[in-house]
Amino acid sequence: MIEFRDVTKRYPDGTIAVDKLNLTVDAGAITVFVGPSGCGKTTSLRMVNRMIDPTGGSILIDGKDVQESDPALLRRGIGYVIQQAGLFPHRTVLDNVATVPLLSGWDRRKARARAAELLATVGLPAEMGRRYPVQLSGGQQQRVGVARALAADPPVLLMDEPFSAVDPVVREDLQNELLRLQDELDKTIIFVTHDIDEAVRIGEKVAVFRKGGVLAQYGTPADVLRY
Ligand code: ADP
Ligand code: ADP
Repeated sequence: MIEFRDVTKRYPDGTIAVDKLNLTVDAGAITVFVGPSGCGKTTSLRMVNRMIDPTGGSILIDGKDVQESDPALLRRGIGYVIQQAGLFPHRTVLDNVATVPLLSGWDRRKARARAAELLATVGLPAEMGRRYPVQLSGGQQQRVGVARALAADPPVLLMDEPFSAVDPVVREDLQNELLRLQDELDKTIIFVTHDIDEAVRIGEKVAVFRKGGVLAQYGTPADVLRY
């Protein structure tokens, strides 16, 4: 589980992006951070893998303060998926996914076999592995992004608006796929979106942020919709 304890982020220009956030993210569940643009969702997410450090309070993963972990080591246990997939354009899809196991010391053949398995897991046909990212649709690129984030089998997955750039029909496919995957994988997932429908659809817990980096509500989708 991931605990935010009185977490505050004040950027150097004085902007308070997150204001005393207290929240416990359940292990093995999807927790959605939802709210309008600029309310501190991305900042909160990025403090978990130390892309950003808080200016107050602390974040604990399974009781351990992330500030005490080396960022590179910490990130081995935390997959990260962003809106535009962020794939390496000059590598094939298969090699995009194989990069992670290669970096952790697997030999090339084994890394590629693992990558092929992951492409199948996210519902991509094997021949897509030979393509380059630009040759894939937006939805397919997001699947590759998810496959890559899963490559090191991290217990935690951070997803920042992962499906916002694809059309509504593809988005629904991707949401269903994520729910299906999560059924087997039981990752601890934080999923950021500005779309309340998406939040209540995929979240087991929903944290509603409002302007000023303040947590307005936190609970099950039913709890949140009751307001
Ligand atoms: P969200 O993900 O909800 O859109 P963000 O966490 O990106 O919100 O941003 C929260 C607030 O912090 C916004 O007011 C944004 O403009 C501000 N902000 C984000 N990054 C920086 C930065 N590097 N420097 C100054 N202000 C920032
Ligand atoms: P989506 O609705 O998922 O964004 P697209 O309309 O972008 O789908 O793509 C439809 C199909 O066309 C996909 O199977 C994709 O692989 C293929 N495709 C898209 N762009 C290219 C490209 N530049 N080169 C080859 N195939 C492409």
